[in-house]
Amino acid sequence: MNLDFDREHIWHPYTSMRDPLPVYPVRGARGVTIELEDGRLLIDGMSSWWAAIHGYNHPVLNDALERQVRAMSHVMFGGLTHRPAVELAERLVGMTPKPLTKVFYSDSGSVSVEVAIKMALQYQHASGRPEKLRLMAIRSGYHGDTFAAMSVCDPVTGMHGLFSGVLPRQIFAEAPRCGFREECDEECVRDFAKKLESHHREIAAVILEPVVQGAGGMRFYSPGFLVRVRELCDRYGVLLVFDEIATGFGRTGRMFALEHAGVSPDIMCVGKALTGGYMSLAATLATGEVADGISDGDPGVFMHGPTFMANPLACAVALASIGLLEGSDWKRRVLDIERGLREGLKPCRDIQGVADVRVLGAIGVVELERPVNMARIQKRFVDRGVWVRPFGRLVYVMPPFIMNAGELETLTAAVVSVVQEECRAEP
Ligand SMILES: *Cc1c(COP(=O)(O)O)cnc(C)c1O
Repeated sequence: MNLDFDREHIWHPYTSMRDPLPVYPVRGARGVTIELEDGRLLIDGMSSWWAAIHGYNHPVLNDALERQVRAMSHVMFGGLTHRPAVELAERLVGMTPKPLTKVFYSDSGSVSVEVAIKMALQYQHASGRPEKLRLMAIRSGYHGDTFAAMSVCDPVTGMHGLFSGVLPRQIFAEAPRCGFREECDEECVRDFAKKLESHHREIAAVILEPVVQGAGGMRFYSPGFLVRVRELCDRYGVLLVFDEIATGFGRTGRMFALEHAGVSPDIMCVGKALTGGYMSLAATLATGEVADGISDGDPGVFMHGPTFMANPLACAVALASIGLLEGSDWKRRVLDIERGLREGLKPCRDIQGVADVRVLGAIGVVELERPVNMARIQKRFVDRGVWVRPFGRLVYVMPPFIMNAGELETLTAAVVSVVQEECRAEP
């Protein structure tokens, strides 16, 4: 493989073309193991960004894809439909809260967020409230890299400064301070309630990640906050959008994070682990009320339609992935991983330079006091035989659900020692 060509010509996520960070060439991946071209084996702590919940190269998922390839890889979704799309929608409607009955397929999480935002705006427009053009979000959120999605990401860690002239200006409430296991008191929801009260006439929808905020800060908060948010949205005629792209499909110990709160949104986005990490696919689910509102308004249709909408390969592998998940004892596995992470990461608490250690479901986070040196820390993890990719001050892991106790111990021991080295090293 020509790594110089990669360096010269290919953009990787969030990198410079002049001074790119090193990348590690991968030959294959199987189970929880990534194999590098030079033969080194890495235990995967990232599930390829929340997605590969069953590990890599799974025979059941491989088989689903192979069978679908032989039937058809793709047909347009305008005017045509197919069994994988229909059966997957049946599963999604069945496993999400009852009011969510309508499914829109798209090809990435960011696009599913664009779709959710467009649904909210079209719904409000159709309901005779065209002045509701803005969105409200909470700080430390992450919803994707396309423009409308960017506009609701955290205004500081997101890209608002860079694109300030183009991004729609949204309304941001403080992120909830109440921890996952704490009650959400008046104080915790005060800023949100105040901002919604003063701006609700111009707000179409509130969008947030339930319980776990992912790439915007890896924060966990009280499910009680969502109960209050739901009440307030209802009071002010504002739609509620849950972005479950990172949290969906068991990661937090529930199938969807909203189940911790027992709250149902008007619109919900899923992606990432939807296909078990095999292909890019996302979906936006909406209530019958939202769908009817859009359909009764002008122009009477929902104005979106990606070329690769409901790609049969992606739908088939998603269906197989959900089948695998539901047919497994994933709840116990996630609980075991939670216990293993809690135990294994505990020594990080005593390291000088560590600000916080937190675990929820199959997510473990070590927050440092200052940003890591990416190139250095990445190499140290690889040298220890694990794949962990920190960002900023956050070293975090979210392993595939199939990881066993021994592998998890190797992973967390590597995190402890690499964090220790990193905290001792020069900035
Ligand atoms: C990753 C992510 C997105 C964006 O999904 P892409 O597939 O990368 O476009 C949106 N919201 C959340 C919560 C995410 O974690």
